[in-house]
Amino acid sequence: MANSLVTRERIDQEVRAALATTLRIDANGIGMEQSIINDLGATSIDFLDINFRLEQVFGIRLASQLLLDHVEEELGEGTAIDRDNKITAGAAALLREQFPEAESIKAGIYADEVPAVVTPGSIATAVEKIIAHLPDACPACSAASWKSDDSTKVACGGCGKDAEYPDGDELTKRWIHDMQREKQLFANA
Ligand SMILES: [Zn+2]
Repeated sequence: MANSLVTRERIDQEVRAALATTLRIDANGIGMEQSIINDLGATSIDFLDINFRLEQVFGIRLASQLLLDHVEEELGEGTAIDRDNKITAGAAALLREQFPEAESIKAGIYADEVPAVVTPGSIATAVEKIIAHLPDACPACSAASWKSDDSTKVACGGCGKDAEYPDGDELTKRWIHDMQREKQLFANA
């Protein structure tokens, strides 16, 4: 079922707060469509910190690997990134599914250019997708009533246990296989 206890507005707010703390910038000045690397000046180390903060706030695990690395692992070496370190047509199509706004993503761009498409909005979407997997009933006590005191972390209204969600890497892998079955983006996989 969808997670009605945590709104998108709340997620956006927490993503801005995590970025502001990590990057030491003003949360109010952060636009949800800005490039976190190009516009906000983040490095790859900063992403670890931002993700960690959001994981603590929402009780989730975000994907720890890049999408293209997941594709290579799941569908075979060379499926997403060619020998010149450029992205394949399949990888470009998959990235456009995940980042519909990222018009700079095309087959043949360098894999190193891809992380620049990540925006506060795309991180918020990643959080939203994970927490949407709130089970109907608590696996521990079977109560079908969830509650949230802070509109971020969700706990069982019966036994009080924190909600458990599938982790981001697991969901990404499932999504890659679903997309491949549906759209055959990777011809040789
Ligand atoms: Zn319970």
